[in-house]
Amino acid sequence: MDLGIAGKRALVCASSKGLGRGCAEALAEAGVDLILNARRVEALEDTAATIRTAHGVDVVTVAADITTENGRKAVLGACVGVDILVTNAGGPPPGNWSDWTRDDFIAALDANMLTPIALMQALMPGMIHRGWGRVVNITSQSVKAPIATLGLSNAARTGLTGFVAGTARQVAPNGVIINNLLPGIHDTDRATSLDGGVSRAQGISMDQARANRIATIPARRYGTASDFGAMCAFLCSQHAGFIVGQNILLDGGAGNATI
Ligand code: NAP
Repeated sequence: MDLGIAGKRALVCASSKGLGRGCAEALAEAGVDLILNARRVEALEDTAATIRTAHGVDVVTVAADITTENGRKAVLGACVGVDILVTNAGGPPPGNWSDWTRDDFIAALDANMLTPIALMQALMPGMIHRGWGRVVNITSQSVKAPIATLGLSNAARTGLTGFVAGTARQVAPNGVIINNLLPGIHDTDRATSLDGGVSRAQGISMDQARANRIATIPARRYGTASDFGAMCAFLCSQHAGFIVGQNILLDGGAGNATI
């Protein structure tokens, strides 16, 4: 399917690895020029070089922490004529409800709620001016079904979801379409780190932790970054203009809900 977005320009945050990289690769395959971001230069440059070679698109890199004001300033400084925004950052650490401090909550809200909001506020006026834009926020399955040990994530991402619900309807008349993508478990460094936590807490091997989790997923596997990227690219495509303010779950059926 021709996604109809060749020649558009996208900022994909936190995209040297994992789900962000999956989104960047799928957009590049559709002919989209990219601004890629991550904190560590080496993986970021490797990813950029691989994408340039594979897809022949223009790729600009900005090594910066997207969750800080200075980091966002650096990234936004490279953002001329951005039509597509994919927001992403690392997720908050697991823990227990009784231990999290105000500072823990502020850090999670900064990273996973206020950063995507600031990026939308910075880039959507240009999209509105040009009459076309797409925003995909990478959130989490925890928005639909809470994961108790990820309470910081549950809280921050649900806050972002509330902001998007109203704002998506305000900007859609201008051709700017915002949706959220909710990953269930996907085979990335984040999944390895979550499985490591389970392995330590339950005194089981990493393989057993993974096997136990797979048994809870009807698709009987972890998702891949390319599964995720394909859906992201579709939501950024010309075909997605009637999908507004939705929360799309990619979890292999793990969430046991009718709607
Ligand atoms: P990942 O494999 O750990 O990749 C994270 C990517 O983001 C790397 O490129 C990393 O590069 C970059 N990054 C992290 N923090 C950053 C920051 N502050 N500023 C700029 N770049 C940053 O993670 P993932 O699995 O793709 O997860 C992406 C998001 O989806 C996370 O918020 C995660 O919590 C959420 N999620 C993931 C899953 C899953 O199963 N994978 C499930 C639900 C939700 P640097 O380290 O070099 O910055």
